[in-house]
Amino acid sequence: MEAPPLPPGASRLEAGDYDLLDRARRASERAWAPLSHLHVGAAVRWAGESGEFVGCNVEDLSQAGTVHAEQAALAGAILNRTSTSTSTARLLTHVAVFAFEAKTNRVASASPCGACRQLLLQFNPEARVLFTVGDDVVDSRLTELLPHPFELPRT
Ligand SMILES: [Zn+2]
Repeated sequence: MEAPPLPPGASRLEAGDYDLLDRARRASERAWAPLSHLHVGAAVRWAGESGEFVGCNVEDLSQAGTVHAEQAALAGAILNRTSTSTSTARLLTHVAVFAFEAKTNRVASASPCGACRQLLLQFNPEARVLFTVGDDVVDSRLTELLPHPFELPRT
């Protein structure tokens, strides 16, 4: 299903950020969303030579196992990373999320949910997050979106 174009607010993004958000937009076209009809795509940029990875939402008819686009993109980045170190320090540099409603073909809010914010944050609290909201694009950082994340006690 063809996604609508990026909203007008995307025009103020730098070229690399615009391209990452457009990759998320194209990933949203592949979403599996028979319940909500909300197609979500995400693109993550990984530090070093590991590159960029995309994902889309995959809804579960039981609603218990739905995969979010950010989770799918992150899984691709983890799978394809060049280092197998378990250190999470600053691996994630950018996250872009785009969403549209399939029934109206209109851009929708793609603000990452709390669970995705928590998941992504462990790979770099300072990672930039770009997401669509109506005609605009929010440009933020994970630490701003989730200022008090869950943390395991240090041992
Ligand atoms: Zn989520």
